[in-house]
Amino acid sequence: MAAAQGRQSRSKKSSKQARRKLPRCKACDKPIRIPKGWSTGAGVRRHYWSKHREVMLPNERS
Ligand SMILES: [Zn+2]
Repeated sequence: MAAAQGRQSRSKKSSKQARRKLPRCKACDKPIRIPKGWSTGAGVRRHYWSKHREVMLPNERS
């Protein structure tokens, strides 16, 4: 018996921390640094809340 059928179907991809690209802010066009332990979305929100609060808040001008 040859080992021709020794196929391994391992397709585990656990490279979640391989992403080094920082998200860029659409308001000030600067890369947003994500704090350690934060998710990307949370870090972006944090940046927006501290730098561009008016963007996060709904415009309630009348
Ligand atoms: Zn910004």
